[in-house]
Amino acid sequence: MLQQKGRRGVSAQPIFDRLALIGVGLIGSSIARAARAEGVVRSIAATARSGATRRRVAELGIADQVTETNAAAVDGADLVIVCVPVGQCGTVAAEIGAHLKPGTTVSDVGSVKGSVIKDMAPHLPAGVHFVPAHPVAGTEHSGPDAGFAELFVNRWCILTPPENAENAAVERLAAFWRALGANVETMPAEHHDLVLAITSHVPHLVAYSIVGTVDDLQTVTRSEVMKFSAGGFRDFTRIAASDPTMWRDVFLHNKDAVLEMLGRFNEDISALARAIRWGDGDALFNLFTRTRAIRRGIVEIGQDSPAPDFGRPHPALTALPRPYAADGD
Ligand code: NAP
Repeated sequence: MLQQKGRRGVSAQPIFDRLALIGVGLIGSSIARAARAEGVVRSIAATARSGATRRRVAELGIADQVTETNAAAVDGADLVIVCVPVGQCGTVAAEIGAHLKPGTTVSDVGSVKGSVIKDMAPHLPAGVHFVPAHPVAGTEHSGPDAGFAELFVNRWCILTPPENAENAAVERLAAFWRALGANVETMPAEHHDLVLAITSHVPHLVAYSIVGTVDDLQTVTRSEVMKFSAGGFRDFTRIAASDPTMWRDVFLHNKDAVLEMLGRFNEDISALARAIRWGDGDALFNLFTRTRAIRRGIVEIGQDSPAPDFGRPHPALTALPRPYAADGD
């Protein structure tokens, strides 16, 4: 494959020779696009469960080779990234285990780490480097058309290597993610699952729940809900439109951490109900002041834009800042 001009410049050397992507939805196809744009790998093999997705990936031309099976995709690969819903990771590992060459790095992108490690590790042969990962970046869209090369720019990718992982293998995968524009942090899998339970999983559950509650209401019509959605509801519907299979698997596989954080959430929402019932305006005002500071902190560290968003095109996102913009932009 022709070495392309990317964020790291023309002369950058590939970090891996052959990347195999198992699963080419939002995340897998974004990795394919970004890895090619940045010249991080020499070639890409990809596969998906259905013929329809495999055909679409071939049409999009985002991989050098599209294979029929998971086992065929990993043939000759020195980096394998499993990009399927977390409930499928064990099955995929069982299918590819015997076909991995020694020295290959095997990783994933699952939103839960403990269960993925438990399900995948037993199927991976000795001599293979297993370095699980989670790019904390996404949208509510799925499938190979939803991906884009800039998805990981200025987002965090969390690596959760087992204690006996080789430093060089962890550092090589970290370099791969940095080349795609991500910041990399390493932490134990259990800690990852607790942190993500409160920063991602419970917020998604709240969005699913509130949109479901509104849908069940008898006294408010569906057209009123749609018409007045800019009152706050609309922002929950974006999160609640996220892929049902992926999120079902997240909750089933991060059960303990989600239930622990949900317990805290239920207590706190009861306290708010009590403050409203007893007219405790100070309690409400103090909490809302603290939460506004959190929002400002997120904007300050560049994890969101301060631009007002009324559902119109986001001015700050139409052009990516250099050095992340593609050449010629
Ligand atoms: P997606 O768009 O729905 O894509 C999933 C892909 O996996 C599809 O190509 C699907 O093929 C394939 N697949 C499913 N089971 C398979 C199997 N047994 N063998 C081979 N391929 C299989 O999902 P996604 O959003 O990219 O999510 C993928 C992973 O990334 C999940 O583990 C998720 O937790 C994690 N993640 C997601 C986000 C996000 O915001 N979406 C963010 C960070 C991490 P078919 O199309 O043929 O079914």
